[in-house]
Amino acid sequence: EGRSIVFASGKGGTGKTTTVANLGVALAQFGKEVILLDADLTMANLSLVLGMEDIPVTLHDVLAREADLKDAIYEGPAGVKVIPGGLSLEKVKKAKPERLRELMREISQLADFILIDAPAGLEMTSVTALLIGKELIVVTNPEISAITDSLKTKLIAEKLGTLPLGVILNRVTNEKTELTQDEIEAILEVPVLAMIPEDPEVKRASAYGVPLVIKNPTSPAAIAIKQLAAKLAGIK
Ligand code: ADP
Ligand code: MG
Repeated sequence: EGRSIVFASGKGGTGKTTTVANLGVALAQFGKEVILLDADLTMANLSLVLGMEDIPVTLHDVLAREADLKDAIYEGPAGVKVIPGGLSLEKVKKAKPERLRELMREISQLADFILIDAPAGLEMTSVTALLIGKELIVVTNPEISAITDSLKTKLIAEKLGTLPLGVILNRVTNEKTELTQDEIEAILEVPVLAMIPEDPEVKRASAYGVPLVIKNPTSPAAIAIKQLAAKLAGIK
């Protein structure tokens, strides 16, 4: 069985999808079998960041019992496997999120790492995403409002039996208004696993539909993500 890790946040837009996409590609480049699961059922966009087009069958069709899981698994950049979500509202209506848990038992047999892109907040679909992973990585920006929301996410995950591994600080600028790594670790009571800098190359890569670690592997954010991938892969 592979490691299933949920990437979640309290606040929206902290960089979960960007992190999942690039970390997944980096782990695949290290020779790991990786599946990326878009569990942001109402705002799915992982496939867009990965530049995947032509997706006839999605996770939503599987959750609606209208398709088999194997038909919703696609090969993405660097051989990473992707289970994308549907983009249309029609699909969102039909999908049954509660099926994700049983589906996860099947998915976790298929790779070394299953990275789960969760929705923000603590609504039903977000809590479902927290439930389906064995481990949690919180993705946050180093601001007090984002950190207090992250704390709620971490506490709920723990209540659900999901193990918090640590936190990724994303869009770090080192301005004085940012909380420090020590302060954040004291509040969240988990280690900071990576600090990803604010990097204009992130947006450029996503506009191109090519993951940053492929489009610009020497950019500062790509380097931080690859270091985290090496840590997770046990390479160092
Ligand atoms: P989430 O999935 O948490 O909603 P996204 O990964 O979609 O967040 O990122 C939100 C926005 O922030 C996107 O426009 C993305 O390109 C941008 N972004 C994410 N990380 C960085 C970064 N390190 N530097 C600059 N922009 C970033
Ligand atoms: Mg997202």
